[in-house]
Amino acid sequence: MRRYELLQSIAPLLSDEFVICNLGFPSQELYAIRDHDHHFYMLGSMGLSSSIGLGLSMEIDSTVISIDGDGSVLMNLGTLSTIALEDQKNFILFIVDNGSYGSTGDQPTHTAKGTSLAAIAKAAGIKSSVEVPGEEAAAKLSECLKTPGPHVIVAKVEPGSPAMTPIPLTSLAIRDRFREAVKRAQA
Ligand SMILES: [Mg+2]
Repeated sequence: MRRYELLQSIAPLLSDEFVICNLGFPSQELYAIRDHDHHFYMLGSMGLSSSIGLGLSMEIDSTVISIDGDGSVLMNLGTLSTIALEDQKNFILFIVDNGSYGSTGDQPTHTAKGTSLAAIAKAAGIKSSVEVPGEEAAAKLSECLKTPGPHVIVAKVEPGSPAMTPIPLTSLAIRDRFREAVKRAQA
């Protein structure tokens, strides 16, 4: 299973949640699988999906899911301590761990050499931190959606992705429709 199939497996679980999606192929794949105005597709700011999602979860009542990657979390490990400290019940960090920098040519990351992001998250103080095979990630996410967070799910998958095309939305369009969706949910 690659990230694309993993995202396909979790897409049916998404409804009213707000999703912050990591830049590059993850956003392009999620857009192709299920576009929604509750999705914020990052076009830059690598490493900050979890930080953006956590900040949003502190301001709204809806559940917020940050879909992040192993390479991105590795460059912002302090985020895990901040997630633990803020203890947002409505926040889920869903890490697609394919052991590679998938959007830049599949160079291996430290998780391909033994680093465990779930173990780091647990040590940072996030009690609900698990690593699961990609095939079991949808069931785990479904469970986490029904219980108070914060949750960290590390889904292990193979590197690689199908041919993707850029998202045909401008950065301003992505921002504006997401902001309107947040406002509607909070009204
Ligand atoms: Mg990766």
